[in-house]
Amino acid sequence: MQYDRIILRYGDLTVKGKNRSRFERRMQEQVKQSLQGFERITYFKSFGRLYVLLNDHSYAPVMDRLKDLFGIVTLSPAVSTGHNLEEIRAAALTLMQTLPEQPSTFKVSAKRAWKEFPHNSQELNHLVGSHVLRAMPSLRVDVRKPGVELRVDVQEEAVYVYHEVIEAAGGFPYGSNGKAMLLLSGGIDSPVAGWMALRKGLELEAVHFHSYPFTSDKAKEKVIELAKRLSYFSGEPLKLHLVPFTEFQTTLAQNGNDNLIITIMRRAMLRITERLAGRNGAGGIVTGESLGQVASQTLASMNVIGRAAELPLIKPLIMMDKQEIIRVAERIGTFETSILPYEDCCTLFLPKSPSTNPNLRIVEMLESQLINYEELLQAAVEGTEELMLTPDSQTAVQSAGEDSWF
Ligand code: ATP
Ligand code: MG
Repeated sequence: MQYDRIILRYGDLTVKGKNRSRFERRMQEQVKQSLQGFERITYFKSFGRLYVLLNDHSYAPVMDRLKDLFGIVTLSPAVSTGHNLEEIRAAALTLMQTLPEQPSTFKVSAKRAWKEFPHNSQELNHLVGSHVLRAMPSLRVDVRKPGVELRVDVQEEAVYVYHEVIEAAGGFPYGSNGKAMLLLSGGIDSPVAGWMALRKGLELEAVHFHSYPFTSDKAKEKVIELAKRLSYFSGEPLKLHLVPFTEFQTTLAQNGNDNLIITIMRRAMLRITERLAGRNGAGGIVTGESLGQVASQTLASMNVIGRAAELPLIKPLIMMDKQEIIRVAERIGTFETSILPYEDCCTLFLPKSPSTNPNLRIVEMLESQLINYEELLQAAVEGTEELMLTPDSQTAVQSAGEDSWF
């Protein structure tokens, strides 16, 4: 079938009033931004829907792009006709005859939104159905479980004929719910947390802590790959902050208290991230933590770590099992990258038995005894490098400083 448009529905947004029109506007901008590469595409808006007019582009690659965008509930590739019955019947028949797989049963589901059309839905079901049956005698009608549901949607401006209603990613359009910093490691969890935050409409900037030269260029490339993938879903460039964490970690490692190193390190990460958030207008911090997964993710650890931050800590994976997280990672295409075996800055300095039940007072005391604590934090903030990434950014970024990470 030569579809001429794709119908985008976002009618299920549960938001009302002013918020709703803001969401709709945002979604439309995002669709346009994401389809920029398709030069001939144009748009038509009507209540609760957006039509992407293909103007001779093939629909499959456009659908592929749209089904990953947040804020769209369902998608239907469709063909439009005038209000003339013969034209509608012809379009319906062509659609049925050109299906990639011929069903044995079908039904027509007509809907007359434009009441001036001379036939009501029932009549239209019959008028279109009988025409198809005459031309395709091996087909049968099955109103309960049809092989294909042929939809005829009569609107004021045109009639739309289609059969698929494809579930899209749902959620809220990018950036319609504020901005947060995503703590992005190279692991499986944090990219999934990032994707879930994006789906909720959060604009994200990613923050990655590295310990060059203890962590390699490969580890950096891996995080860049993951950030690029996230920017595919947002449809916008994603800023990645690369924070030099070597000084802080080596200083900490020299100070003993092995079992509290991770706790203190995580608190420092939050503090540094909070400063970056302040500079970039972000109002929350997203992490990939999942309850009980490792020593730093017990309730007691999260309590002591979380107290270092004032911003809300958003933990989309907190109640998910690893297997569930992995399934999402596979679906969104981050898993393969995440399992590449490069060292993370935290595993490098991982003590033999990190505390699962740190004591807040002791942790605070140890922090106050670290002579350069504040200077080290500030130096990490100041030394942070920024990359703007899009799905097809060239990774090899050259930076000036000799001792820089690149
Ligand atoms: P992940 O698979 O995301 O690495 P994880 O199960 O390995 O998670 P941890 O290593 O304990 O868990 O990290 C918990 C969270 O802390 C991560 O999900 C991430 O949000 C953040 N984090 C850990 N390491 C880093 C890092 N080097 N840079 C930025 N954030 C990090
Ligand atoms: Mg990790």
